[in-house]
Amino acid sequence: PDRAAEVRALVRDVPDYPHPPVVFRDITPLLADGGAFGDVIEAFADLAEAHGGIDVVAGMEARGFLLGAPLATRLGVGFVPLRKAGKLPPPVERVDYELEYGSASIELRTGTLRPGSRVLLVDDVLATGGTARAAATLVERCGAVVAGLAFLLELAGLGGRERLAGRTVDTLLRAE
Ligand code: IMP
Repeated sequence: PDRAAEVRALVRDVPDYPHPPVVFRDITPLLADGGAFGDVIEAFADLAEAHGGIDVVAGMEARGFLLGAPLATRLGVGFVPLRKAGKLPPPVERVDYELEYGSASIELRTGTLRPGSRVLLVDDVLATGGTARAAATLVERCGAVVAGLAFLLELAGLGGRERLAGRTVDTLLRAE
């Protein structure tokens, strides 16, 4: 059996959510399946080991927390949450970025990342790459190194890889 196809089948495509014409990719059925969830974390761990040593995993709010935290414990390293604006107590570092409609900000607690530490950034979905690029900028602003970016699902054709050009990007699954 094609394991990737089995895992892919556990990501539910929801048409017109949160509004037309968006097709929302819902990973909650995958998380609810212990075998598939474990396989995804193992696949991320293989990538992290291929990147030659990760000091810390950073996850983007909110689904990056669900994948990044178990990966960090699997690797025996710490986990750092990158949060939406206003959720972390001060002092924070902040990067503002543009969305399709409007703008957003991502924050990290000052002093959480050691200068020079090798960070693996994790999120569920790579779409336009705007969120991930802002996250990488935030990590680098703290003097840490983005060793790689890992996503469960890449939505092809939205320019995400192009927006992250020059960085190491790995995705476990792909959707057209
Ligand atoms: P981007 O910044 O356009 O690449 O969007 C990626 C961010 O939006 C990630 O934090 C994802 O969790 C979220 N996102 C975008 N599209 C989807 C989706 O279809 N399902 C789940 N999350 C999504």
